[in-house]
Amino acid sequence: MEERLNSFQIGLKLLDRAAEKLKLDPGLHKKLRYPKRQLIVSIPVKMDDGSLEVFTGYRVQHNVDRGPAKGGIRYHPTVTLDEIKALAMAMTWKCAVVGIPYGGAKGGVKCNPKEMSLGEIERLTRRYTYEISVIIGPEKDIPAPDVYTDSQTMSWMMDTYSMAQGFTVPGVVTGKPLALGGTRGRKDATSWGVVFVIQQAIQHLGLNLKGATIAVQGYGAAGAGIVRILGEKGARIIAVSDSRGGIYNGKGLDPTKLAEYKSRTGSVKEYERGEAVSNEELLELKCDVLVPAALENQITEENVERIKAKIIAEAANGPTTPGADEILAKNKIFVIPDILANAGGVTVSYFEWMQDLQSHFWTEEEVNAQLEKVMVKGFQDVLKVSREERVDMRTAAYMLAVSRVAEATRLRGIYP
Ligand code: GLU
Repeated sequence: MEERLNSFQIGLKLLDRAAEKLKLDPGLHKKLRYPKRQLIVSIPVKMDDGSLEVFTGYRVQHNVDRGPAKGGIRYHPTVTLDEIKALAMAMTWKCAVVGIPYGGAKGGVKCNPKEMSLGEIERLTRRYTYEISVIIGPEKDIPAPDVYTDSQTMSWMMDTYSMAQGFTVPGVVTGKPLALGGTRGRKDATSWGVVFVIQQAIQHLGLNLKGATIAVQGYGAAGAGIVRILGEKGARIIAVSDSRGGIYNGKGLDPTKLAEYKSRTGSVKEYERGEAVSNEELLELKCDVLVPAALENQITEENVERIKAKIIAEAANGPTTPGADEILAKNKIFVIPDILANAGGVTVSYFEWMQDLQSHFWTEEEVNAQLEKVMVKGFQDVLKVSREERVDMRTAAYMLAVSRVAEATRLRGIYP
């Protein structure tokens, strides 16, 4: 049985392995194992039925040596401090691996937004923002959407922060709507980023995207965009799932009809033009590219030997356990690790923040062209390390990211 590690222990393991390969200075390594700041807040919310509920929220800043802290906010019933610490640390590496000038942070509230009204979610968001406003700000720490938060959540966060300042501060959060200083291209940024690195991997392995078979686990903001874009590029989407279950059709699913079905019924499950498949079964389908785009710890030592994909593109954060990772490497499955594969979201967040600070806005073509440049360079940089050091892509990505952050820390020195 695989040792059950929590997300933060897994994150530490990945860091330790990279540090060892890099022969990193033990002091710098030690510093990187600790988050810089961890804030836990209680969030009282007046519920619609008149009762008072108290939720727990977190904001963790892992590292700010390369720039302000950056990372999303998730609303989910399973949120824990350790998970947020792990995700904050992953943001540090993600920003470093694609070379954008941010450190890493993450926030979350333990709640079930599916059971809450819009008014309750708004009150929760505003009070949470107020509670973490002591550590966020456009030069300090810039939140963004993550699991079950979106551009509306960001609008409330921006408004709440701005009200306390007495003036509008668009650069305090990213992932805002266009009307409030959002950027063109942010909505599909994570999806496009995943597609750009899939294209690189396909080319690297001598495959062809046209007709390539694709299975996507998770039909949320990232997954749905990936299905649509890959479909437009001529790939064959053979399976898709969401939290309720999935659907399979070896001849290919129609992305447009699937999207319509999902918006009509709330799930892709039971879409009529295919057979039912569970989330677990989807992972084990024979396909060229498997895209885990849901939550953590989906590919484990228990199911990894049954995975038949040639490429795994990790759109979700942390979908693979370390035990499974070793077996994927042994089985020569090409993994595009999360910190590289899903960096498109934070990259376009960076573009949004730059546009807000300069009050100068780009066209969608400019955003996508710059995003492609960043993702292709990130992929090629990681591939180069992977070849030179003879390591898998995840180890290479961590080695690159950790060395960049450690270099910044070394140059700055330790205060005082
Ligand atoms: N939540 C996204 C991530 O995990 C985006 C973060 C951001 O844009 O700051 O990368």
